[in-house]
Amino acid sequence: MAKYQHVRVPDEGERIQAQDGRLVVPDRPIIPFIEGDGIGRDIWRATKLVLESAVEKAYGGRKKIVWMELYAGEKAQRVTGEVLPQETLEAIREFKVAIKGPLTTPVGSGFRSLNVTIRQALDLYACVRPIRYIPGVPSPVKHPEQVDFVIFRENTEDVYAGLEWERGTPEAKRLMEFLRDEFGVQIRPDSGVGIKPISEFGTKRLVRKAIQYALQNKRRRVTLVHKGNIMKYTEGAFRQWGYELAAEEFPEVTITEAELWEEHDGRIPEGKILINDRIADIMFQHVLTRPKEFEVIATPNLNGDYLSDACAAQVGGVGIAPGANLGDELGVFEATHGTAPSHADKDEANPTALILSGVLMFEYLGWPEAARLIREALARTIQQKRVTYDLARLMEGATQLRTSEFAQAVVENMDAVLAGAPTP
Ligand code: NAD
Repeated sequence: MAKYQHVRVPDEGERIQAQDGRLVVPDRPIIPFIEGDGIGRDIWRATKLVLESAVEKAYGGRKKIVWMELYAGEKAQRVTGEVLPQETLEAIREFKVAIKGPLTTPVGSGFRSLNVTIRQALDLYACVRPIRYIPGVPSPVKHPEQVDFVIFRENTEDVYAGLEWERGTPEAKRLMEFLRDEFGVQIRPDSGVGIKPISEFGTKRLVRKAIQYALQNKRRRVTLVHKGNIMKYTEGAFRQWGYELAAEEFPEVTITEAELWEEHDGRIPEGKILINDRIADIMFQHVLTRPKEFEVIATPNLNGDYLSDACAAQVGGVGIAPGANLGDELGVFEATHGTAPSHADKDEANPTALILSGVLMFEYLGWPEAARLIREALARTIQQKRVTYDLARLMEGATQLRTSEFAQAVVENMDAVLAGAPTP
């Protein structure tokens, strides 16, 4: 019996495997994609063209992606009758790396959010969001080029764990009675109630990933962002466990801020990574006023959600902000933005965020040549002021392109990059 009912596994291509926590990527990997709802259809088509062209041009036909469609969201409901078929999750588990467009969570589908469900079901515990400026993109700050952070947001815990009960329900009442009877805690009876779990296990695996990333990518600072001055046993514990993890597992390569000043006169010594921490509220000020002080940021779920969108604004907004959701073996790559329904099927949305998510996927696969080619071709296209409506309206003298035309322009620019043409 076929393993999958709606998913058609291609005849060509090979599976990506995981061995001892490392990916083994064949030259013709089968990569699942979820097209996404709303603008997903337009931006996925554009992204697919750019990713395929980059692989073809960077490797001269030696490598090729073999795509495999998976269903989620409105399309899944049409094709399979369910918004998130179990086999979609199984196929991501089997094929290890996937890319997805944004999804609508239909009201009454029984899901709070399909995206949160996918991340939690697959234990994709780190949401990784690089915030980097592409020269030429309109930005609301004076020095967007000073912004170059990678945010590691915890993805499975915190107030996002779904432990929340509506006001007036028997569950909310029982919980409040329990808290009153056992702990003497009084909560107003007309309250909804939520629980915020943050564990040592969840914190340490996130901070471990952030430090490993810093080591692999030659970054010098990892900042723990928390609200531990108020929420001492959740956010404060996140800070404490983060420092503990660095001291336990990376003692040779990390130093704390106290050591930095006491022993090194404020300069990070060669071969070391500074582990420091900042309280979340001041962090929102610091990313604006001292962006050069931050490189890798590790933070609980809710802080990370707010901070990634705020930082994305500094470099041009969510239309260009990519993301990756990573577990120990699995990786699902997706744009930060949603389905922008008013722009759906008009061939006008900006595909940059999903294209850059594909770039992150190539870096994750160990295909840096294709990744670099896209980054440079994208930068050229934007510097030529050939952009979609969202950027065109903020740039003087821009040529407004459709989604599909923008993708074509990026592909054309790959040839210019390969020919070594100077950037305009
Ligand atoms: P949104 O990101 O879809 O749109 C916010 C604004 O940004 C809109 O004004 C839109 O015009 C603009 N925008 C977003 N992406 C753009 C792009 N690529 N090009 C040009 N303009 C772009 O956020 P929303 O309106 O809050 O949410 C709409 C739907 O998306 C909701 O159903 C929500 O649940 C869903 N959503 C999904 C994801 C995901 O799949 N990861 C993330 C966020 C929201």
